[in-house]
Amino acid sequence: MKHALVTGGSGGIGAAVCRRLAAEGCHVLIHAHRGVDAAQALADDISAQGGSAQVLVFDVTDRAATADALHPLLENQPIQILVNNAGIHDDAVFPGMRDAQWHRVIDVSLHGFFNVTQPLMMPMIRTRWGRIINITSVAGIVGNRGQVNYSAAKGALHSATKSLSLEVASRGITVNAVAPGIITTPMSQHSFDAPTIAQLVPMKRAGRPEEVADLVSFLASERAAYISGQVISINGGMV
Ligand code: NDP
Repeated sequence: MKHALVTGGSGGIGAAVCRRLAAEGCHVLIHAHRGVDAAQALADDISAQGGSAQVLVFDVTDRAATADALHPLLENQPIQILVNNAGIHDDAVFPGMRDAQWHRVIDVSLHGFFNVTQPLMMPMIRTRWGRIINITSVAGIVGNRGQVNYSAAKGALHSATKSLSLEVASRGITVNAVAPGIITTPMSQHSFDAPTIAQLVPMKRAGRPEEVADLVSFLASERAAYISGQVISINGGMV
């Protein structure tokens, strides 16, 4: 049974990805930071449906804590599927953006990617099979007003995806980015009302977390073995 780690598994998109990977037969490591109760409820639900899951708690911006949480797990079995999904936004027009807003957003998305992915690499390489999927954003492709910090972090993840995919392509490991548009989760609910969504999205609706999970599970599967270094956007025709 393959072990799959989903960072931010306590959140909207992360939870849907956890459910989907568990349904595909993975043992799912549901990562949470503050949302430990939500992650535990999800793990219990997955188990009740015959799946296999456990909860992991750490702050992805804390390099030492992340390593401490991951190393014991890797002693038994490599984690061969990694979904770097943890992310935050903290918007402000650029002249008024505070230092903390800039650093925190980049810390979670970009430094979080580094802190979580690096400990998993050597065990994954030894098995000659791996899938790394970074959840980014359309803001990392086309930019967005008020999100210079967020789009910088997500755009940097696109570049990291491409470079890492080159380093590990010969080892059976694929690295891709999934860039959602507007998806119905707590993160987006406060940012976009229905008229705004209708104006921005040609399909005139927000996406569902399950639709993102479908794409992630395909990229995590054997069927996607020849897809690597790609940024695939799921956005209702927005970009
Ligand atoms: P949620 O706010 O529902 O989930 C965010 C997740 O990130 C939570 O599980 C949270 O953990 C975790 N997280 C935040 N900070 C940290 C931290 N310091 N350490 C560890 N984990 C942390 O958001 P979504 O599900 O909507 O977003 C998931 C991903 O999708 C993000 O990367 C986001 O940028 C991206 N995205 C979302 C879009 C949308 O419209 N919803 C659009 C485009 C991209 P906890 O709650 O346990 O603290």
